[in-house]
Amino acid sequence: MKYNIAVIPGDGIGREVVEQAVKVLKAVGSKYGHIFELTEVDAGGCAIDKYGVALPEETLEVCKKSDAVLLGAVGGPKWDTLPGSERPEQALLGLRKGLGLFANLRPAVLHNALKEASPLKPEIIGESLDIIVVRELTGGIYFGDRGRSGNYAYDTEKYSIEEVERIARVAFDIAIKRKKKVVSVDKANILESSRLWREVVERVAEEYPEVTLEHMYVDNAAMQLVRNPKQFDVIVTSNMFGDILSDEASMLTGSIGMLPSASLGTDRRGMYEPVHGSAPDIAGQDKANPIAMIISAAMMLRYSFDLAEEADAIEKAVGSVLDQGYRTGDIMSPGMKLVGTNEMGERIIDNI
Ligand code: NAD
Repeated sequence: MKYNIAVIPGDGIGREVVEQAVKVLKAVGSKYGHIFELTEVDAGGCAIDKYGVALPEETLEVCKKSDAVLLGAVGGPKWDTLPGSERPEQALLGLRKGLGLFANLRPAVLHNALKEASPLKPEIIGESLDIIVVRELTGGIYFGDRGRSGNYAYDTEKYSIEEVERIARVAFDIAIKRKKKVVSVDKANILESSRLWREVVERVAEEYPEVTLEHMYVDNAAMQLVRNPKQFDVIVTSNMFGDILSDEASMLTGSIGMLPSASLGTDRRGMYEPVHGSAPDIAGQDKANPIAMIISAAMMLRYSFDLAEEADAIEKAVGSVLDQGYRTGDIMSPGMKLVGTNEMGERIIDNI
């Protein structure tokens, strides 16, 4: 099969980690007989320098015509003095909007070999951790009516039935391929929008009889994530709760250099990027951990192309390299072997 992928290296370490992910994709393509047609386009600070805008029209067009988008990271000190509406990060908002991406997937996986990097006690983690937070991305309080009047200010949390239905379906579809358990997080004891959320999620759950659904209030969920994270598999929640809980869940796993993400729309097209930024402090020094980017590429194979075996192969290769003791600086610990960005990429390819 042939798959068209728009590749946006972006700025700083974005370029370095994307280079490794592209190499990994080529290795997977030749092993499994797929053609990954890659089109590189600019967005972020480098696009501001070249075209005067963070998201050139042509970049968005290429992304819209592609089956998926791989993005490194955008931004850096060079563009920090620009006004908010002209900054490199505007490219991310423009891409999400332009591609209609409403679901944000943030896995928090703790590899056995990196257990010591977790702030949690070993007995709480057990053998490993594998949670995925499905966050609604284009609704709720971040997009609701807001303003100021006299001596007060307000923001509005608003969700339609359709918005909740579509994010719930994303979560249940993922749960079917995992442990068949969804925890829906809300604040239905207080918020009317959460009561609607709960009703709609329950209705959608009826379409998935093999999946168990549990509801949890957000304050309890925040506590349970550190008290007993192993009870979670798929968490589905609103934009703001998801923003907070996905950061909390991901930090259970240690380094930011290990965290991938995916944003999905109504068709199978998605945008896949590491959670981290352009890391100007280590850019251009072969120090960046490429694993978050490489696992993001694996997510692309799994969620946009339905290539589960190929995605597994990448994830297993990452696990093997960690088991063999290779570490970039951010996940280094005594007795392990320090490698650079490029060597980490090469070793992962060797294990595919
Ligand atoms: P950052 O994630 O770039 O870096 C935070 C810290 O983590 C730094 O010390 C960095 O060296 C380290 N780090 C990050 N990724 C790493 C990796 N793969 N391997 C090893 N170490 C890694 O966050 P920041 O410093 O707040 O932001 C830097 C720039 O990136 C800013 O311009 C910011 O706006 C932008 N940013 C972009 C995105 C994105 O493109 N999605 C996300 C966050 C920040």
